[in-house]
Amino acid sequence: AAETTSPLLHHLNPEQLQAVTLPAEHALILAGAGSGKTRVLTTRIAWLLQTGQVSPGGLLAVTFTNKAAKEMMTRLSAMLPVNVRGMWIGTFHGLCNRLLRAHWKAANLPQSFQILDTQDQLSAVKRLCKQFGVDEDRFPPKQLQWFIAGCKEDGQRPRDVVVRDEETRKKVELYQLYEEQCQREGVVDFGELMLRSYELLRDNDPLREHYQRRFRHILVDEFQDTNRLQYAWLKQLAGHEENGRFVSGGNAVLAVGDDDQSIYAFRGARVGNMRDYVREFNVQHQIKLEENYRSHSNILDSANALISHNSERLGKNLRTSQGPGEPVRVMETATDFEEAQWLVEEMRQLIRNDGYERTEIAVLYRSNAQSRVIETALFNAGVPYRVYGGLRFFERAEIKHALAYLRLLENPFDDTSFMRVVNFPPRGIGGRSVEMLQDAARAAGVSLHAGVDRLEGAARTKFNGFIAKMAVLREATEGKTLREIVELVLDHSGLIEHYRADRDGADRVENLEELVNAAESFVTQEGFGRDAVALPVDETGAVLTQSPASQGLDPSLPELTGLQIDGITPDGETLSPLAAFLTHAALESGDNQAQAGQDAVQLMTVHAAKGLEFDAVFITGMEEGLFPHENSLSDRAGLEEERRLMYVAITRARKRLYLSHSQTRMLHGQTRYHLKSRFFDELPEENLKWIAPRPPATGSMAGSLKGARWGWNDQASPRGAYGGAGAVAPWAEAAAAPVPPRKDDGNAVRAGMKVFHNKFGEGKVLTVEGSGADARAQINFPRHGTKWLALSVAKLTPVE
Ligand code: ATP
Ligand code: MG
Repeated sequence: AAETTSPLLHHLNPEQLQAVTLPAEHALILAGAGSGKTRVLTTRIAWLLQTGQVSPGGLLAVTFTNKAAKEMMTRLSAMLPVNVRGMWIGTFHGLCNRLLRAHWKAANLPQSFQILDTQDQLSAVKRLCKQFGVDEDRFPPKQLQWFIAGCKEDGQRPRDVVVRDEETRKKVELYQLYEEQCQREGVVDFGELMLRSYELLRDNDPLREHYQRRFRHILVDEFQDTNRLQYAWLKQLAGHEENGRFVSGGNAVLAVGDDDQSIYAFRGARVGNMRDYVREFNVQHQIKLEENYRSHSNILDSANALISHNSERLGKNLRTSQGPGEPVRVMETATDFEEAQWLVEEMRQLIRNDGYERTEIAVLYRSNAQSRVIETALFNAGVPYRVYGGLRFFERAEIKHALAYLRLLENPFDDTSFMRVVNFPPRGIGGRSVEMLQDAARAAGVSLHAGVDRLEGAARTKFNGFIAKMAVLREATEGKTLREIVELVLDHSGLIEHYRADRDGADRVENLEELVNAAESFVTQEGFGRDAVALPVDETGAVLTQSPASQGLDPSLPELTGLQIDGITPDGETLSPLAAFLTHAALESGDNQAQAGQDAVQLMTVHAAKGLEFDAVFITGMEEGLFPHENSLSDRAGLEEERRLMYVAITRARKRLYLSHSQTRMLHGQTRYHLKSRFFDELPEENLKWIAPRPPATGSMAGSLKGARWGWNDQASPRGAYGGAGAVAPWAEAAAAPVPPRKDDGNAVRAGMKVFHNKFGEGKVLTVEGSGADARAQINFPRHGTKWLALSVAKLTPVE
């Protein structure tokens, strides 16, 4: 009876309840946005655990982003007293890494193999091209990188690639050399994590059978975005091929997805996996969820209308009983700068007057380049914000430098790291010397580090300082805690000193100091991400000490007993905290680090917003060429993908949705003129409300910026009845607010002038643009770099 009366099952509709309590067989939930797919998946995990049908170690759940995985763990631990950290819940890359760590010998990897992120991969490819004298005009390194990543996503090793022309032959040859280089250096890229662990399962029967027996339940969220290799990987865990047919291994797979939200075709995602899955797994349970619990109907109707313009759909219905709510507001501005100003002001209204929390407000954009102007506006207005994606903490140059020293401590064969810091901070080692070293190392078939010994005379002397430094570091860090190791590296490497001496280095020093905090919290919070056994904890997080049986642990799991089972013993759990931290740095975005406060507005690309929800959502830059993106304007499939992306964006909003577009935009250093997005024509007029900027009143409007509501008129207006700033609209007068006189009128900021800013100190004005509320200046602050500031907001005092 407990199986169906559990409090976990309250608040589920009948279809959701059915899905959560399905028998242990393969199933597919195909349903639209906000219908509770992720909730069903998480509740099912909790229900299976609670009813004792599976132990925490007997289940594997995959999601698409680190953020989604964390979210799932949070939801799960709110439902059950279980230590979710030890469970196999994560992204494909995270889980593959875990598998390879546990079986590094069988996977033919060194124990402390390091992960190359996309940047590192590119430098590795560049280094290879240089070494083999590849004509980079004919074979640009970036293209080669894509080629290699693409092959791996298709599960192809160099020998598997079909060679039809000379160009492909050359690329395959370089792919082969790249693989040898990685293997020699003990590094794997993201694609390799996936491919290597797939091959490990495929080629190692006892190991595969062990994991098949172990993972009784496999649950996959966002299934529509799996690529060919990920699907093949899942199949390895769920069964085997016999005479070309898939035979299920007796475990239960639950796949959850929405074909309308497939947004990774450009990276090889295959919606076709859904059909293949139903056929190959002989799926008997297909469940549809048709009630959307997230959004008001003005928002949902807009999303439904938009996506109905796509032709390639599996077809689903979605309704909400939440009532119409607010209309979708649409804003047109003259410039991207104005757009940013408007959204900051609108946001403040939401927070101040309507009680919205900052974390419940999201600004979405199609491409990362759009965030800068929005960030500037938020910064100048003093609104805390947080950017997801973009340049991630662990990808910043100074952090990469520090990580390279750390990686060399862990693995001296890592030539990518060696190259990064051998002459950084600069120590007089020229390109010529490095080339000689590369030649010597290649001739001897050893790493660059070891290659130094093969050099003689002056050539060798050049490197002595660096080699000695690394030796000292290695000795000094012996037996130290992770935090101490990071501190020692920052000191001894000379990085901190180097950036301190740099006029613009203050932020970088701060980031490096943040790395120490990151290391510290990694050890305390993450328990360094080990493959620990899941233990029940009480509300305080303390582990409940009970017998293994009542802890719901399956004593046959190798992690528990360390015994050999079915001939499978994990290769050991002796990954050092440093190695674990480096893995974490490569796999996680480090979004948590160096971010001002948690109570912040959220900025991210639409791709990064998948699966998330917010009370209020702003979709900015709704312009032809931007969204839909210019690369996809010419082909139908590309356009349909953009439309799905827009569908994802719209359906993130619970209560308020804003769409904005601008007539001009500064992008990549050019002013571009854009038409408004075609997607506007696909949204039902009755759900929209067109709002417009109030044209500037006579005189300056600057003072009113700080007023309660300024600058934008919230009355409905017919489409296109205004021409952006400057056009005089009939309601202008009625909406006009009293404009207080400007205090600083005599002190207009001019180019060439020196000014003082409270936070940034003294700076020199480079350019001034716009007028009135729109006036902004580009100012160079020696300690903080060049910034754009809104003159009506920034407090500037002339210095001369
Ligand atoms: P997406 O396609 O965007 O990933 P989803 O289908 O995974 O969406 P969820 O995120 O699981 O949807 O759910 C959307 C929201 O609806 C969540 O806030 C969830 O808690 C809520 N919800 C789901 N089912 C119910 C229900 N039966 N009663 C109340 N709220 C629900
Ligand atoms: Mg979801």
